[in-house]
Amino acid sequence: MKDSNFLKEHNGRLMWHPMTSPKDSIDQPPKIITEADGVSIVDVDGHRVVDGVGGLWNVNLGYSCEPVKKAISAQLDTLPYYSTFRGTSNDAVIELSYELSEFFAPDGLSRAFFTSGGSDSVETSLRLARQYHKLRGEPGRTKFLSLKKGYHGTHFGGASVNGNANFRSAYEPLMPGCFHIPAPYTYRNPFNETDPEKLAQLCLQALEDEIAFQDAGTIAAMIMEPILGAGGVIPPHPSFAPAVQEICNRNGILLITDEVITAYGRTGAWSGARLWGIQPDMMATAKAITNGYFPFGAVMLGQRMIDTFEGNPNAKIGHGYTYSGHPVGAAAALACLAETKRLNVVENAAARGTQLFEGCQALQKKHGIIGDVRGGYGLMTAIEMVSDRTTKKPIDAGTAAVVQEVAYQSGAMVRVSGPNLILSPALILSEAEANTILQALDAGFTQAAKTAA
Ligand code: PMP
Repeated sequence: MKDSNFLKEHNGRLMWHPMTSPKDSIDQPPKIITEADGVSIVDVDGHRVVDGVGGLWNVNLGYSCEPVKKAISAQLDTLPYYSTFRGTSNDAVIELSYELSEFFAPDGLSRAFFTSGGSDSVETSLRLARQYHKLRGEPGRTKFLSLKKGYHGTHFGGASVNGNANFRSAYEPLMPGCFHIPAPYTYRNPFNETDPEKLAQLCLQALEDEIAFQDAGTIAAMIMEPILGAGGVIPPHPSFAPAVQEICNRNGILLITDEVITAYGRTGAWSGARLWGIQPDMMATAKAITNGYFPFGAVMLGQRMIDTFEGNPNAKIGHGYTYSGHPVGAAAALACLAETKRLNVVENAAARGTQLFEGCQALQKKHGIIGDVRGGYGLMTAIEMVSDRTTKKPIDAGTAAVVQEVAYQSGAMVRVSGPNLILSPALILSEAEANTILQALDAGFTQAAKTAA
């Protein structure tokens, strides 16, 4: 390996980072991670911390998953690649389809379409939604609905249904016909409603109103995250998702759940659909399906999709990726699924999730910089930072960076996204490791208060 100085010097000069300004990468070099094991990462200077981010919400099983490594290696030896385009398939992906179909059967989803990641899975869902309506003789149903603050990846379709200006305005014009509904975000919402159940009702009414305004017959699908993730961990009231499903069903609109984060155990349930007791028409998944060992994704398809596509000899899918159903990804996913089930990670995700959530609530009592703490469903927690609790003025980027850096020096990697600190560690996190994250955050907030004073 090149030495630490070489890596630091060349990183910003030679590479543009996602979601970062190229100039920032030069002025403030990132942490260069060179090793990982268990739930910890080690940087180029040898500093070891607990990874409170879980890679990027994807490393659910940690960094030392031997069965997955073995499965990948064995697959590389037998069949490193073969396509699933018309006329060919491979054994690994068939076996994975079987497992996924069983795994998602309680969600009513028993077919899979494979992709190379989350944005691809979203794009696939949007495209198949339009095709579904064309096959059913309703070609006018082309529009999409989604939630403000939702995140659906960065392809043009996904960016168009995205509900955060940061990912949109620089790339406009986006896809026409995408409309956004207020999110059930109790801390800030246009209704000034702080009761989660009442807020859910108001957002549902906004959804009904938008459908009436657009004309239901022009809408293809609604896409939403069961718990909004990148937008700042926003769990809706439990009444929300079932009511969205009912509204969509009543109006002939397909429901796509974007479960790129929530599938495979992160919420303390095996899927977001199961958490809320709904049966979407499509479920976009990726991330933890391969635990970060391989770029891979799967869109799961429900009965209405199956009947429409399989019942029509002309339903040719004009969509797919070179790496759809990649055998090495499929082998990794099979091993991840087996480990996910064997370790029953949902139980630990729920227990450690409660610990982190309650720990963050305790920190909120101590630190005025914490405006809101959200989570309570598995290992998805966010702390929204403010510079003034009364006015809810968002924290400035400099202070947020102090919290993050001091937390890192104190033993935990945490992620800052706008005013939010996001915690999404591996689902195998221990109680002691969760405490390390909380103590590191405590140190970060204490220092930020001193810096601001
Ligand atoms: N949808 C959701 C809900 C996501 O959280 C993400 C990634 N964070 C994506 C889509 C895009 O996934 P990817 O980055 O793998 O393309």
